Amino acid sequence: MSFNVAIDGPAGAGKSTVARQLARQLGFIYVDTGAMYRAMALYFLRQGIGAKEEEKIGEAVSRVDVSIAYENGEQQVLLGGENVTGLLRTEEVGNMASASSVYPRVREKLVELQRRLASEADVVMDGRDIGTCVLPQAHVKVYLTASAACRAQRRYEELKEKGALGTHTLESIQADIEDRDYRDMHREVSPLRQAQDAVLVDSSEMSIDQVIEAIRRLMGR
Ligand code: C5P
Repeated sequence: MSFNVAIDGPAGAGKSTVARQLARQLGFIYVDTGAMYRAMALYFLRQGIGAKEEEKIGEAVSRVDVSIAYENGEQQVLLGGENVTGLLRTEEVGNMASASSVYPRVREKLVELQRRLASEADVVMDGRDIGTCVLPQAHVKVYLTASAACRAQRRYEELKEKGALGTHTLESIQADIEDRDYRDMHREVSPLRQAQDAVLVDSSEMSIDQVIEAIRRLMGR
């Protein structure tokens, strides 16, 4: 049976950085579920569909083909066969992903893909509902969080480094993060919350290596 690690938490807590490095150290596959919601969101944006148009989103979900491939151990997300990985980490796509991920049809399609990946290989999977919904039987569950100010600062630096800040400021990013947290925690389907059997890790005062070490201790590896 495959070994599954679930890492959930709010935007900017460091989930993807930690999950990617942890997976590399252990020889596991890293599954970034946020990127799948973002790829769907990119499709809706390209089709000119608004976040409130639930019916159109539902129809689009039945047409859209999201799949995953790995290149040098890095997850690539394909949208109808096109590699869109490089287009996903913008504020526009992130906000649309957060708004459209409230719809059950969007979630059902992606959860099925996520479960299949986890059944086929040892994975470190990060997202919002992995421990509570996608992989309730995961061997290790972590709820990774940090203060909103700290998460906004990290996201600001990430965008700045990529030259992708545009008109965003630290304040606007923190406001986006708080909106997104609220939506993710209050939606009807699979809201973001700590699973009962998940271990809380607050990374506000921790380095990436310290977080990884803490998770490896939980795994006993
Ligand atoms: O983690 P990331 O910022 O890439 O996720 C983008 C959005 O996708 C989140 O704000 C959340 O609304 C949604 N998402 C989700 N469930 C997951 C992963 C992401 O609803 N498992």
